[in-house]
Amino acid sequence: ADMTYWNTNRQAFLEDLAQRIKPKRYQHVLRVEQTAIELAERYGADAEAVSIAALAHDYAKDLDVEQARVLAQTFWPQVDLSQEGSNILHGPAAAQILLDRYGVTDRRILEAVAGHTVGWYQFDLIGKILYLADYMEPGRDFPGVEVARELAATDLNAACWYKMKRTLTYLIEKEKTLFDGAVEIYNRWCQEGI
Ligand code: FE
Ligand code: FE
Repeated sequence: ADMTYWNTNRQAFLEDLAQRIKPKRYQHVLRVEQTAIELAERYGADAEAVSIAALAHDYAKDLDVEQARVLAQTFWPQVDLSQEGSNILHGPAAAQILLDRYGVTDRRILEAVAGHTVGWYQFDLIGKILYLADYMEPGRDFPGVEVARELAATDLNAACWYKMKRTLTYLIEKEKTLFDGAVEIYNRWCQEGI
């Protein structure tokens, strides 16, 4: 069953991943996978697809930013990424690596990985689960994380809304620029639901 979605297996992928990202981040990824699998069980998602998305989501976080930009631009050719940094680029860059190197073609997995930071217009269950698992894994400790965990236990969409609102509010309070795509996604969620 391990090769349904990619041309590798969990163990081989983890060996590669350990060489790509810092040890602290590697531990974060394992906690995200565990949290994501728990959510997959609760909400009836495909656990193998969820696991792959979780394991891959931060693959490009420690990559050189210009390399990440090229990969991300390949995955999102219609989006202007020229002003964006690693925070935005590492999701779509990891999705492109999954496509190029690991033979992943399942759009649910690719879009979950690409959108794990900023969200996505129409997230499916796998996307929502990764978006939240990354936010509430047990190593996370910020004001409000308990609210996110409680919401995720009963209402996945409400929990996604919580992360979106908190993330944008935080950036505004810090007077940081908002990625245009994040604002578009927020508007779509307002107009059409998650
Ligand atoms: Fe990330
Ligand atoms: Fe992460």
